[in-house]
Amino acid sequence: MDFRFTPEQEAFRQEFIAWLDGYLEKAGDTSRFRATDTGEAWGQAHKSFQKALFDAGYAGLQYPEVYGGKGKSLAEEIVVQQTVAEQCMELRIPGVITFGMAAPTILLCGTEAQKQTYLPRIMDGTHIWCQGFSEPNAGSDVVNVATSAVKDNGHYVVNGQKVWTSFAHMADYCILLVRTDPDGKKHKGLSYLLMDMKLPGIEVRPITQITGHPEFNEVFMEDVRVPVDMRVGEEGDGWRIAITTLMFERTVGDATMAAAFMGNLKAMIDMAKQTKRSGRPVIEDPVFRQQLARAYIDIMVLKYHGYRNLSQLFAGGIPGAEGSIGKLLWSEPNQRITEDALSMQGPLGQILGGSPWAIQEGIWQFGFLRSKGNTIEAGTSEIQRNIIGERVLGLPKDTSRMARQQ
Ligand SMILES: Cc1cc2nc3c(=O)[nH]c(=O)nc-3n(C[C@H](O)[C@H](O)[C@H](O)COP(=O)(O)OP(=O)(O)OC[C@H]3O[C@@H](n4cnc5c(N)ncnc54)[C@H](O)[C@@H]3O)c2cc1C
Repeated sequence: MDFRFTPEQEAFRQEFIAWLDGYLEKAGDTSRFRATDTGEAWGQAHKSFQKALFDAGYAGLQYPEVYGGKGKSLAEEIVVQQTVAEQCMELRIPGVITFGMAAPTILLCGTEAQKQTYLPRIMDGTHIWCQGFSEPNAGSDVVNVATSAVKDNGHYVVNGQKVWTSFAHMADYCILLVRTDPDGKKHKGLSYLLMDMKLPGIEVRPITQITGHPEFNEVFMEDVRVPVDMRVGEEGDGWRIAITTLMFERTVGDATMAAAFMGNLKAMIDMAKQTKRSGRPVIEDPVFRQQLARAYIDIMVLKYHGYRNLSQLFAGGIPGAEGSIGKLLWSEPNQRITEDALSMQGPLGQILGGSPWAIQEGIWQFGFLRSKGNTIEAGTSEIQRNIIGERVLGLPKDTSRMARQQ
């Protein structure tokens, strides 16, 4: 299989690179350290960037025009996403749930009215979405969701708590998994809602992460009235739709993630050239050279795994359980790569961003600490291995989990 861009796609890529260079120059601040600014400014930077992409005709390339897209192919979307990821991933991050989960789920499972209302506002950067699945007693076993939604006069009255909700503090809407039937079998009693985050009764409390910055939140809901027409699919169909969302989460980002890591690797090689250990540039140390080579191999494996998944999407399929392989291929290497970067810095590895002595604005210290969550978010490594075992290899089911779901 030939994964190279066609001459037309390459010409489009060059055109987009020129546009992006111009945008970043005009925007002025191209600091990679922006990722540590988790406040309003980060959300606004993402929205302005998405609006600029939309106005220039580079947003939602593979989405139908009637929903604010460009009606082009997924290949062109990949060109844009990869280029953005390599050059300014930090501007894209607040939108990863919006584009990776909310948009494809609404397109595939939403009503016509939902598609017409929400997709154009995703494409033009008006709305950021968050994902309200996890709860204090529902993480890997998301089927245990207890947040209740009771029908009342054209609305669902929602009560409960979500946790680890990334970007809830900057989100306009939430894809929300709720329990509409407390008596039915666990996965049958779930429904999937689109919730306006400005509704009365919603309280968002940021949680500070190991990085020192709050990127995710607790979300409390007390008698929140969500209109019934904000339900995706039938009542009780929430489990099937949530699985669709998670499949998109686990698959479509791999090739893009590889491009972002490639941008990081270039920065790491620069650092290895400029930083000295025991009086010698790091780049001359055979152990660190091995680490750089290993990082490159890890990134190439992720990239071509991502392309394999994409070729399945091009052929019209929806992502499958193989997405779990990609999750492992980015999360575990990212922990290794950021740890290697810190060891290259030696004693300076202890200095965080903000200090005049920080190397490369402290991006590796932030990346190292942030990477600890990589093997938990979007499904833990253990759960991904269970999925691969059961659904790719056909091994017997994990009975411990089934027992807990009774
Ligand atoms: C940075 C970050 C961002 C996140 N963002 C979001 C978000 O936006 N929205 C959202 O809904 N959630 C989000 N999450 C939550 C995430 O999806 C959960 O943390 C994850 O699914 C694990 O659930 P848990 O934390 O409840 O751990 P548990 O499910 O309690 O797991 C605890 C440990 O037990 C292991 N384990 C559990 N079951 C099994 C099993 N059957 N076999 C083997 N091992 C098992 C796990 O691997 C883990 O090591 C985020 C998490 C992080 C870290």
